[in-house]
Amino acid sequence: MSEVVVEVRVADWGERVLAALRSEGQRLTGPRLTIIHWVAAQERPFSAEALTAALAPAVGRATVYRVVDRLRERGWLARVQTERGDYTYVRTLPGHHHHAVCLRCGTTLLVEGCQTIETLTALLARHGFRVQGHILELFGLCARCQATSS
Ligand SMILES: [Zn+2]
Ligand SMILES: [Zn+2]
Repeated sequence: MSEVVVEVRVADWGERVLAALRSEGQRLTGPRLTIIHWVAAQERPFSAEALTAALAPAVGRATVYRVVDRLRERGWLARVQTERGDYTYVRTLPGHHHHAVCLRCGTTLLVEGCQTIETLTALLARHGFRVQGHILELFGLCARCQATSS
């Protein structure tokens, strides 16, 4: 299995989420659409608090958290920890991925495949440790941001 890197494109994400929810026969109510559109427009990782504040009072806090949880469960949002230790959300696509998030602009690259982890898993197995799961997130600067920082 080889590793593939994919950029999550903003325009696609909203359309894909809405198409998936429609195909599941879910009702797309006003608040849900509002939340999905807001998330689709975010260029940077965002916190649930920021989302709640941006949409208040039109959309209540409980609704925001419920929709965010639902999107996470279905693999459309990933919760990633920033360098400062805060939890933020980034758009992602369903499936097991690793994320590389640009700290400046929020561009998110998905790494499909776990070859690197398999190497670690094998190493730990030699020390008698059985790995049962993993989380790996990477932070840095995307190519565009490196080009514009001097
Ligand atoms: Zn960037
Ligand atoms: Zn993995």
